[in-house]
Amino acid sequence: MADWDYSEFWNETLKQIRTELGEQDYTMWFSSLSYLRAGEREIFVAVPSQFFQDKFSERYKASVERTLRELTGKDLAVKLELRQKKEGPEETVSEPPPNRVGTKAAEGGNQAQAAAAAAPKKKDRHPQLRDDYTFDRYVIGENNKVSANAAMGIAKNPGKAYNPLFLYGGVGLGKTHLIQAIGNYIHQNSGNKIIYITAEDFLNEFVDALAEGKMTKENKMSSFKNKFRRVDVLLIDDIHIIEGKSSLQEELFYTFDSLYNAKKQMVFTCDRPASELKKTTERLVSRLKMGFNIDISPPDFETRCAILKSKVPELEVPVPDEVISLISKNVSTNIRDLEGAMTTLVKFSAMMETPITVEFAQQRLKDVFASPQQGNISVESIQRAVADYFSLSLADLTRKKRTKKLVIARQIAMYISRKITDYSTIELGQYFGGRDHATVLYSCQKMEEAMLLDPNLDAMVQKIERTIKENNTKS
Ligand code: ADP
Ligand code: MG
Repeated sequence: MADWDYSEFWNETLKQIRTELGEQDYTMWFSSLSYLRAGEREIFVAVPSQFFQDKFSERYKASVERTLRELTGKDLAVKLELRQKKEGPEETVSEPPPNRVGTKAAEGGNQAQAAAAAAPKKKDRHPQLRDDYTFDRYVIGENNKVSANAAMGIAKNPGKAYNPLFLYGGVGLGKTHLIQAIGNYIHQNSGNKIIYITAEDFLNEFVDALAEGKMTKENKMSSFKNKFRRVDVLLIDDIHIIEGKSSLQEELFYTFDSLYNAKKQMVFTCDRPASELKKTTERLVSRLKMGFNIDISPPDFETRCAILKSKVPELEVPVPDEVISLISKNVSTNIRDLEGAMTTLVKFSAMMETPITVEFAQQRLKDVFASPQQGNISVESIQRAVADYFSLSLADLTRKKRTKKLVIARQIAMYISRKITDYSTIELGQYFGGRDHATVLYSCQKMEEAMLLDPNLDAMVQKIERTIKENNTKS
């Protein structure tokens, strides 16, 4: 079959259809199509799924062929083919790839992204690591750009950049993804021996080694010790479970020293800063604090959209941008919840054979959007937590009175509200006794500056913020 090129006509057809259909339907039905090739009387076009193919044929194929006929003067049949799944991270052909770098963080993210893109995939996957937890699938935004770049720095120079890297943050914010991305990158690009383990499995292996040693009178502990002390890279996830477990802490302490002295890389993740680990020996905490401690905070709206967009090509159904915005606006707790909402929607859509529209999403996700776990932290709950912390009344925070304590408490409450809610400074002003937006903005800036200069203040604000989030998940 001779090659025919109708791509110009195809593009023109799409333009006309876009004008006729309007943006929403066009995005839903046409943005995921891609022109593949053509014969004399046919054009082959890739579609994302069987479901899509059936529905598209029913609804739009005839009118697309009509437009093509008007443009070319020929009867051209549109032949739909299922898009072949590519290995590894995918991108649709017809659209630019989703923004994997939150725009705000474009600068910080580029280095990690470029290096990740350059990394060739050659080896088999590492047995303990998920092969989809890679840097190129990690969207970078304001909330995680420092941690992502630190992680990339370590991946490129294990043992030489910072040791240990200590990543902390709440659930579902991407700690496991990032620590495993470090492992995957090193695994793909070097012969380094890597162990990834959750602290819980580390504990279990430790307890088993102790018990077996007692039973068989063999020294099982030495093989346990050797296992963890003879690696080049040790990645321990969810280290907070060591709290209160003194023999485990002791074991970890010696493992740490042995690896540290041999300049072997360690990375830990934790749900809180090392300084807030309770019932943990001072000497271990000080080790954990030695390298680079960095937090991952919840993503802002823009980054939430970018994350969801990056997942769309894997879903095999088109998800319009408006739906992505809707989910991102309503689910602000963490990325696991964000992904969960989109997966739920996709399942409903397949089950009911209905394409995903804003109305459909609103209908299907109304319980998810209404559930208290889904963020939407109220300004009142922030004010209450701050007032409790300073032993003030709620009303104190909105009054005009100015004692030093009141001013600080108010500024902290405003700063946290601006950071973790989607309210504008104008709206926040209303919550704080009718102050204008410039005052809110000024207070937030002041607080940011003060936190930079005063680590104690920074720690205090973080602590209050965590309490607020914990209260919110409990309620
Ligand atoms: P944590 O370990 O902090 O609880 P995870 O690493 O398990 O969180 O992340 C939860 C889900 O969100 C995972 O599916 C992960 O791939 C996804 N995720 C987290 N952060 C990002 C990100 N920045 N970009 C893309 N996906 C992310
Ligand atoms: Mg995790």
